[in-house]
Amino acid sequence: TSTSRPQRICVLGSTGSIGVNTLDVLARHPERYEVFALSAMSRVEDLLAQCLRWRPRFAVMPAAEPAARLRELLREQGSRTEVLDGADSLSLIAAHPDVDMVMAAIVGAAGLSPCLAAAKAGKRLLLANKEAIVVGGALFMQAVEQGAATLLPIDSEHSAIFQCLPEDRRSWAQRIDHIVLTASGGPFRQRDPATLAEITPEQACAHPNWVMGRKISVDSATMMNKALEVIEARWLFNLAPEQIRVLIHPQSIIHSMVVCRDMSVLAQLGTPDMRVPIAYGLSFPERIEAGASRLELEKLAALSFEEADEKRFPGLFLSWRALRAAEGSTAVLNAANEEAVEAFLNKRLRFDQIHRVNLQCLDELPPQAGECLSVDGLLGLDARVRRHAQGLIAGLGA
Ligand code: NAD
Ligand code: MG
Repeated sequence: TSTSRPQRICVLGSTGSIGVNTLDVLARHPERYEVFALSAMSRVEDLLAQCLRWRPRFAVMPAAEPAARLRELLREQGSRTEVLDGADSLSLIAAHPDVDMVMAAIVGAAGLSPCLAAAKAGKRLLLANKEAIVVGGALFMQAVEQGAATLLPIDSEHSAIFQCLPEDRRSWAQRIDHIVLTASGGPFRQRDPATLAEITPEQACAHPNWVMGRKISVDSATMMNKALEVIEARWLFNLAPEQIRVLIHPQSIIHSMVVCRDMSVLAQLGTPDMRVPIAYGLSFPERIEAGASRLELEKLAALSFEEADEKRFPGLFLSWRALRAAEGSTAVLNAANEEAVEAFLNKRLRFDQIHRVNLQCLDELPPQAGECLSVDGLLGLDARVRRHAQGLIAGLGA
């Protein structure tokens, strides 16, 4: 239902690919939404331009040095936006009493604490930051329940599943036989697996259907992105690992499917444009214009599907392995992968070695009892795995 006053939104990671797409949708609906806070890690100039355009109450930069520069530049421009910094600034703003919605568009486990803060404060939480739910797991879902927050998926596959389900979550378990997450297969779907060692960061980041941040682009190339999405789906829709299947669909037109108990299949289709799931998260249960172009099925030669090959995409299969292992294993997998991808992007690790680091961390670092019971426990586990992964990476050498 429409609300009388504009909804105040906090965009965490506003300078990134999802953040920019979010602002594009918001700009189409000035009567519905108001930007309350923007945040970024390092791109001071980009955040400055966004602040001048949107005039938010707050701009958040966790590190002191870029925050000081932004503060100075904003003052020169006569802006009244207040700049916050410090480790807790993102959580503080995500839980601010004047905020209605939080777009979680930070990349990586760094988004976990702000997501939990928004959830506990009962916000409408628009979740693009899949690593946060992969690391947080049960604790994440408990925070949502505890705060009576509204958790809405922004990842296109999970938005598709959500759009195929009725509003009443209590009916989901009875209705769903399984879900099918579609995957484009990324840039190396047909590449000879014997040549994976030579892949450069530039090649890995050139996705055929989507323009995205570098981390998720590499994850799409290894299909670790789909592995994270399998884990994300487990939590968002409360499914058993065997109820989640993956199918390669290179055209990225069907964004995912729900297979019901009676074997009826519901799918959500559209042109590949992140503004569609973003707009749905913003406006649910209504629908608003998103800026996307119309799907012209008559112009497509075909929609095709294939099974993912374990030899080419071994990373995908680590998702089910981690979900069946001790609780917290998905946080182990995520931390290893964040380190491995970072090392690959910095040319300290070969593309084909990413999987090696992930597999080895998953097998060598079982989470300890209790580590999944608190944010501090999870972040401690995350740090422990990262140190181990760094050791492995140094030993492997690119
Ligand atoms: P990006 O790299 O383009 O942007 C990341 C944003 O987060 C930037 O604003 C950056 O300043 C900020 N940031 C990075 N590290 C931070 C930290 N440690 N603390 C605070 N802020 C930090 O990434 P993206 O492609 O926009 O992806 C964001 C999230 O959304 C990821 O979790 C990704 O998996 C997910 N996602 C993205 C897409 C897409 O199309 N890009 C689709 C589905 C899901
Ligand atoms: Mg996705």
